[in-house]
Amino acid sequence: MKKVVIVTTGGTIAMVKKGESVVPYEKGNILISEIPELSKIKDAKIDIVEFSNIPSPHMTPKDMWNLSRMIDKILDDSEVVGVVVTHGTDTLEETSYLLDLTLRNEKPVVCTAAMRNIGELGTDGPRNVYSSVLTVLSPQSYGMGVMVCLNDEIHAAREVTKTYTSNVATFDSPGYGPLGIVDEDTVIFFRKSLTREKIFVEKIEEKIALIKTFTGDQGEFLRLVPQLGYKGIVLEGFGRGNVPPLVADAVEEVVKMNIPVVVTSRCFKGRVYPVYGYKGGGADLRKRGAIMSEHPIGQKAKIKLMVVMGKTQNIDEIRKYFEMNIQRRTLENE
Ligand code: ASP
Repeated sequence: MKKVVIVTTGGTIAMVKKGESVVPYEKGNILISEIPELSKIKDAKIDIVEFSNIPSPHMTPKDMWNLSRMIDKILDDSEVVGVVVTHGTDTLEETSYLLDLTLRNEKPVVCTAAMRNIGELGTDGPRNVYSSVLTVLSPQSYGMGVMVCLNDEIHAAREVTKTYTSNVATFDSPGYGPLGIVDEDTVIFFRKSLTREKIFVEKIEEKIALIKTFTGDQGEFLRLVPQLGYKGIVLEGFGRGNVPPLVADAVEEVVKMNIPVVVTSRCFKGRVYPVYGYKGGGADLRKRGAIMSEHPIGQKAKIKLMVVMGKTQNIDEIRKYFEMNIQRRTLENE
């Protein structure tokens, strides 16, 4: 019989209310196994494996990498048709993207979570897990990459982000839209993500920092990063990928120390692009050695740099992974 494995990691979906606050349940992810809707699934056996029982802000790069290796092993079992991962919503977009980049097996992996704990009125966890299992079982899911399924929508891991602190309709893929929906127990796909990439590595670089610039930033934080032992930096700038003038000097200094600086944007739609030549503009930063990230969202670029640096520490090589569509035009003009 076909098997779907639910790998639990913790998050609100496995939490309970104690007094005035919500905390991880001391019995682990047991609440997932008690979801009654799962017994409605007749054409597959559901196995549950606990990876961890942590809130997702506690998830580390090492945890994400270990999870990726564990899922690949699970998917190697010929009876397993796919995996559902339960996780906290806060960093689900990071873990799912790391899985999407690194998993070797193309069988469907669907990550899910809950905004409301199981005892809360209108809890969304059980339905999200149920819809995720249906998504794994859809014949169209094979080769779709790692997906995120909540609130009846299916998103691509690379594109999705948490947009609302509290509402169940929190996951969105700005600039892209969902891949599909789960409606009346039917999984309907509208499109496939064309932006997916695979980067197969034997290890990742865990020491990657994500720094957000601000008006008046003088670059002190950026200069500190290498001293703290970080091997790569994602710098979240403004608009097209621009920063205040003194940050440009810091970028140049850091790059000279052989630390790659990948520029992203606080805008979550569109592309980062070396348009502006003024001091701190994207074109100026690039001349100083910065790398422009295709994807504007800082937390996604951080995951990608962790994976890419598991393969190479050479800045020119790293650049090729981030500037696929910039290379052609601007390098020719240089
Ligand atoms: N803070 C929680 C976590 O990410 C929120 C959630 O699960 O939705 O673990």
